[in-house]
Amino acid sequence: MSPPKRIVTIDGPSGGGKSTVSRTLAAKLHFTYLDTGAMYRAVAYQCRKLGLPAEEGPRLAELLASLRMELLPPLPGGDDVRVLVEGVEIGPELRTPEMGMLASQYSALPMVRTTLTRLQQEIGSAGRIVAEGRDIGTVVFPDAAWKFFLDASAEVRARRRAAQLRSKGETVDEQALLAQIIKRDKDDRERSLAPLVAAPDAVIIDSSQIPADEVVARMHAHILATSCFCDQ
Ligand code: C5P
Repeated sequence: MSPPKRIVTIDGPSGGGKSTVSRTLAAKLHFTYLDTGAMYRAVAYQCRKLGLPAEEGPRLAELLASLRMELLPPLPGGDDVRVLVEGVEIGPELRTPEMGMLASQYSALPMVRTTLTRLQQEIGSAGRIVAEGRDIGTVVFPDAAWKFFLDASAEVRARRRAAQLRSKGETVDEQALLAQIIKRDKDDRERSLAPLVAAPDAVIIDSSQIPADEVVARMHAHILATSCFCDQ
């Protein structure tokens, strides 16, 4: 059996701190950071722009077959990975809670999952990557060397997401946000294809009471303690 690839997977529900933790951990390890949620959001954005409903059909197949998607690192001082579709950068709309809900609908379609899973596997084929999402340790990189599942209570996640949006100058209804988070997680967990679930070999961390830097420190320590088992 070949040794596991130097890939870190971080799965978990929305607002659990995956992005901050994954980005920081990737920088610490000098690995590439892959935000797969941004890819599902970009597909949803493009489908809405072209008026394609969240259902399979020849138009969606055509869009996915010719999809040109690029991921660029955040701008200096920024946090979010930038996404270009057909050479055009998608603006802040990509990160709204509404786009998250829409992404959840399109992400349940087999055609969309097959296309994005393949793209993600291509990006990670050389290893040295920290990838975050819902199905990364279970479906996209089942042979990853290190798998984590980052959870937190829905209330804590809604509070954190609200603070994040407020810091970007947005007005937030925290109760509505909580309801959206609960609905999106339910849909992500209950879909038949690649549902949100911890891989059996994932280290589960509940970040409800732990700050992000402590989560990163725990993951980093676990990786260092087990890195001798990996491919170089
Ligand atoms: O992580 P983020 O909130 O940006 O993800 C948006 C949506 O994309 C999720 O709610 C989920 O439905 C979908 N997604 C997925 N598989 C992934 C990443 C995201 O189904 N690996």
